[in-house]
Amino acid sequence: MRKKLATVWLGGCSGCHMSFLDLDERLLEIAQWADVVKSPVVDQKEFPEVDVVLVEGAVVNAEHEEEIVLMRRRSRVLVAFGDCAVTANVPSMRNAWPKEVVLRRSYLEVPGTVEGRVPTEEVAALIDRVRPLHELVKVDFFLPGCPPSADLIYYVLTELLHDRVPVLDEARLKFG
Ligand code: SF4
Repeated sequence: MRKKLATVWLGGCSGCHMSFLDLDERLLEIAQWADVVKSPVVDQKEFPEVDVVLVEGAVVNAEHEEEIVLMRRRSRVLVAFGDCAVTANVPSMRNAWPKEVVLRRSYLEVPGTVEGRVPTEEVAALIDRVRPLHELVKVDFFLPGCPPSADLIYYVLTELLHDRVPVLDEARLKFG
């Protein structure tokens, strides 16, 4: 039976999605097994019920907190997609400072931030600490890498979309 697949981009650089696109012609195989029903390249606003979701990025703001809870509720299998989702990685570097210091530095103290104010309505409110996905919801599979290789993504999706359990042991993670 065809599956429903989603890929979501939270607090990340999009590099994991670039690696997903590096599947190249193998994307056509994925398309034989699943419909991509929610993704940065699909114009679907609501997060639908899905079989598998790949979630790139850490949880950095209040919108992400709501999104990840909703995704968990509507996804049969949730995959932490890349090191930012798995460990919080690069976005968590700001955890060394209070968020007020980060906002002041970003919006008031550096060249190019000419309005002289911290935006409160245009962007979602930062949470106090950047968090990996598993601190908020149950994660079914951890797909590490910055970014994970296209081969590793292909392997994991092939298994999950055929109702098999991917084996993410040391050898697999080392060689993709
Ligand atoms: S894991 Fe690396 S490539 Fe993926 S979103 Fe984070 S920084 Fe970017």
